[in-house]
Parts: sequence; structure tokens; C-alpha cells
Amino acid sequence: MVKNKINKIILEDKTVCDFLTQIAGPLAPNIIDFFKNDSEYTPEILSKKLNEKITNVRFTLNSLHYRGIACYKRKKIDNKFCEFNWTIKHKKILEIVIEQQIEKYQELDKVIGEKKDRDYFACPKKCIEIPFEISAAYNFKCPNCNSNLELIDIKKMVANIKRKKTKIKKNVEKLNKMLQLVGDKDSDYVCESI
Ligand SMILES: [Zn+2]
Repeated sequence: MVKNKINKIILEDKTVCDFLTQIAGPLAPNIIDFFKNDSEYTPEILSKKLNEKITNVRFTLNSLHYRGIACYKRKKIDNKFCEFNWTIKHKKILEIVIEQQIEKYQELDKVIGEKKDRDYFACPKKCIEIPFEISAAYNFKCPNCNSNLELIDIKKMVANIKRKKTKIKKNVEKLNKMLQLVGDKDSDYVCESI
């Protein structure tokens, strides 16, 4: 597969887009889209291309840099000024998102383990979800809004969680396939390695 194509496909994944927006703000997917050909850009050029304030572009790049996704090369223009050429590590994006998705999968497993053999009650207005003993202590009233607490259908809930797990598993498989295809230039960039 052609490289710029895989870099573009990565951005079409919803979990990837949500993750980027969450860590670096709403501009992040748009900015990263410019790097699909593995090009380098200065914040000034990106600011012009996107018609966005340079401070917003810098904020986004710095937030991505902090997660090891955006990396830069410093280029001296003259004795006083430097230019920063940025690049994007697409592989790193995938690695972090896959890791997060696996954690989410394991959390759901834990939730199933905790809840499957107990009775749980929930507020119909979705304030809380608590086990039987605590619900009894509250007289089966929501401590937040005083609505009557309702018994949760655990079987239905577990089935729901299992569906979520299957969805995550499929998504991780898809992301892993992308990971096999993606490659980044590694030379001379300043990257955070966390
Ligand atoms: Zn409530």
C-alpha cells in the first residue's frame, strides 16, 4: 500500500481521531492530515495553510510532541533565528491508540468480573450505579436526585459489555494491520520518548 494512503487511512479511524482531539485539541486531526506524505512543515506554514492562529498551531504541535507524536528539527536561518521543521510519527499514534484500546478491553473484563454475580441498582437519571448493600443503605433512593433506584438487568448489561469488547477487539485487529504497513522517518528529529 502507498504510504500516504495508509497515513490517511489512520486518520479515518474514529478511535484515532477521538484520541488526537482529546490529547491535542480540535485542530490535531487537520494538522496531522497535512503530514500524510511524510512532509515537514513549520508552524508558520501550517498556520497559513489552515488559516489558524499560529499560537493554536504551536499549542497543538507541542501537545502532540509531549506524547511523542510530533517531532521537530531545528534549522538555523541566521545568527539570531531558528526555524522549526515538524514531522509526525504515524506509527507512534497507532502504538498509543492500540495500547489504550487494549487497556479499555481489560477494564471491561474487570467490570464483568465484578458485576456478574451481584445485584446492582441504578438511578434512572444516570447519577449513580451501586451494589445492593449500598442501595439498601440509601433506602433505594438516589443520594443525588432522590429518584427511586432501579434494579439493573445484569445479563443485559454483561451482553452489552461483551458487544463492546468484540467491537474493541475488531478495531485493535484493524489498527494492528495498519501498524504493519506504517513507517516513519527516524533521523535527526527531536522526539519525546514517553
Ligand atoms: Zn439520581
